[in-house]
Amino acid sequence: MVQTDYFRFTDYDCIGFDLDNTLARYKVGAMIEMEYHILANFLVDNKGYSAKHLLKPLDHNFIIKGLIVDDENGNLLRISGDGTIIQVTHGTKFLTQNEIKKYYPNLRWKATDLFAQNPLQTWNGPYSEKMRTLLDYYDIVASLIFARAVDAIDEDSSEIKLYNIWPDLLDALQDMFTREHFQNEKGKYFSEIKANPDKYYYKCSSHLLKWINALRDSGKIIFLITGSYVDFATHTASHTLGPQWRSYFDIVISYAKKPGFFTERRDFIGLDGFTETGPVKLEDLKIGGIYTHGNWTDLKHFLARNYKQPNPRFLYVGDNLIQDIYAPHVYAGCETVTVCEELEAEGVYGHDKWHPDEQFLCSTIWGSYFKCKSSGRMTNWYEIMKNHSRFFIPSLEYAATFPIDHKFRTNIY
Ligand SMILES: [Mg+2]
Repeated sequence: MVQTDYFRFTDYDCIGFDLDNTLARYKVGAMIEMEYHILANFLVDNKGYSAKHLLKPLDHNFIIKGLIVDDENGNLLRISGDGTIIQVTHGTKFLTQNEIKKYYPNLRWKATDLFAQNPLQTWNGPYSEKMRTLLDYYDIVASLIFARAVDAIDEDSSEIKLYNIWPDLLDALQDMFTREHFQNEKGKYFSEIKANPDKYYYKCSSHLLKWINALRDSGKIIFLITGSYVDFATHTASHTLGPQWRSYFDIVISYAKKPGFFTERRDFIGLDGFTETGPVKLEDLKIGGIYTHGNWTDLKHFLARNYKQPNPRFLYVGDNLIQDIYAPHVYAGCETVTVCEELEAEGVYGHDKWHPDEQFLCSTIWGSYFKCKSSGRMTNWYEIMKNHSRFFIPSLEYAATFPIDHKFRTNIY
């Protein structure tokens, strides 16, 4: 496609959306508080971690989206687009440049070098155990838990040690998000959200719902691809888009397992209510249908077949820079739009500084999400957004304040 200095939604024919933190906006501060409480208590109660350190009040200024965990060394990192390490804490303590170089000679580390080359190289396999990225509001609070656990271990002894905290933290995260827990009420996360939906979700405005319908009325095919299993996705979508949420989409894919959805060729699985039935062939996918798993290649054929004009143009809108932006752009040739609430929380790139949970999204100690305070270098996350999405928005609510064919300037980044 010809690169222009503007972006327009109506230049695309088949437009897909992620659900969580894209169409469905969360009250991020309340969610992070809740997640901190659940994860910290899990580690204290089940894994013997220090209550003194982990059960302190949440320090929201330490949290920022996009921190990278080095489990062996007990460090949290930020890197620039070329993989240079630009900021590091050991536990909660910020390191000087000289201290950083003791851990990472020449400010480089094999794991982050691989990640900078291609983030999917460290998504699975051996390096996924050495480094982890905390990319969205589901897991960013794990950074503070990790750092406090490191502080606790350091306080016990000053000898050099292996931290190996991540496997325990992963157990805690998996316990929180295990899909079965939505229905069997075993975990604390889903039962809390089910009991108090208004505390955690914003309802979509009537503007936004009309904007989606206006896209459909103009002949676009609209689809949803979410990682959530169908029961939780139904809960979230009903409380944000409304009880008629399915009517906004020509097809819904849940439990899509991004980024693999865009890189692999898994079968679509049919559903009977919330129960998976069996594989569904491409030719049997239906408009108005809902499925789990699946893959982009087949979905694209399905969308193209139903668009009824040759060579439709595809767009995907999401918030997770690896699952929703990098993977579809690089592996599936799909153009993307990034939803990034930090644009408003920081008040940058033409947006007014306004966000009810600014204190959770912004950090005076790390500095901007987009740019490193001390070195002045742009972060790798900024570079992924710039290189792999056509356009950034703070929310779909923002986009919906404009007509569907509005030309947004893109030469401001
Ligand atoms: Mg999301």
